[in-house]
Amino acid sequence: MSQENQGWPAWLPLRNALKGSTPYGAPQLDNVIALNTNENPNAIPPEVRDHMMDRIAAISESLNRYPDRDAVALREKLAKYINDGEGTSFTVKNIWAANGSNEILQTLFLAFGGHGRTALGFTPSYSVHPMIANITGTSWIVGSRNSDFGVELPGAAIGIRELSPSMVFLTTPNNPSGTPTSIRDIEEIAIATGAVNGVLIVDEAYAEFSDTPSAVTLIRKYPHIIVSRTMSKAFAFAGVRLGYLVGHPAVIDAMLVTRLPYHLSALTQAAAEVALEHADAMQSGLDEIKSERERVAAAITLAGWKPVSSAANFILFTGFEGESQEIWQRFLDHGVLIRDVGLKGYLRVTIGTPVENDEFLAVMHTVAS
Ligand SMILES: *Cc1c(COP(=O)(O)O)cnc(C)c1O
Repeated sequence: MSQENQGWPAWLPLRNALKGSTPYGAPQLDNVIALNTNENPNAIPPEVRDHMMDRIAAISESLNRYPDRDAVALREKLAKYINDGEGTSFTVKNIWAANGSNEILQTLFLAFGGHGRTALGFTPSYSVHPMIANITGTSWIVGSRNSDFGVELPGAAIGIRELSPSMVFLTTPNNPSGTPTSIRDIEEIAIATGAVNGVLIVDEAYAEFSDTPSAVTLIRKYPHIIVSRTMSKAFAFAGVRLGYLVGHPAVIDAMLVTRLPYHLSALTQAAAEVALEHADAMQSGLDEIKSERERVAAAITLAGWKPVSSAANFILFTGFEGESQEIWQRFLDHGVLIRDVGLKGYLRVTIGTPVENDEFLAVMHTVAS
């Protein structure tokens, strides 16, 4: 095996950019308390599940046909959901939907990135952004966050104007830190991005857990702002794979020419439509997750460790003695799977049910003592 092929067979014409890559992989283990992928711990309410099964049974008669290529009924419901929550007046022309927001991000890169293009993000943040940049041949520029994981202005805006990226990524609340970015700061970043003819992609995967206003309220004024959302977290719907974006109709037109035909299955569309018809019931566990987040953060502080203030459904923490990997392993040895996000001295825990959180805290006391 040649050195240049980095372990890949010589006969495999894999693109050079991918030769150093490893598959994205948070462990999926059985018989542990999984607090590592920011899933919502609450099962879908039984009445919603019944309704979903009925709807899927009804459409199963026509599964010999391709699904609605443009998922119009679903996108209308997504527009209504955003409008109800944010007081906006978006229509189907402002919404695009795909198999998880990861696919949304990939389609955005295919449309606006690629060879000769650059994308900038503020790290530490969601590792999938630079991962898809690499896959699509887009150069990735690392912008920084301060020691409190905030994006510093005006420095960030100056950097954008100097480097002229086609795409700027801002995750708010940020993953893995839980840090929100204020609407004023988002606007300042948007102005800088607009000045260099880029698009600002605001990844709001955790918006429903936060009290900070959503960037969707800025889209009317700044058409180059694209807000990415998901039903995986607050909606407790990760298994279905439904992400969406909110943007100017020209952005949706760009998605229409980039997407694969019939990318969103009829089963996915039907299940997501029913979930949106029951948006309140689907999110009935949200307040408990938010109050549990504050309870867990206070307990981490009491144990002498330091939680980062979070507006999402997870907490990044530091202050433990030992390497992240070693402490992560000790939690796992006690049956609690948390996340080593690759940040030296930090680990991240997802907020689970109160019982799961008690388990996490019990192990924490053992590890900390
Ligand atoms: C979880 C997460 C996503 C991915 O969500 P899917 O819709 O499940 O693909 C996107 N962005 C961030 C920041 C996330 O943490």
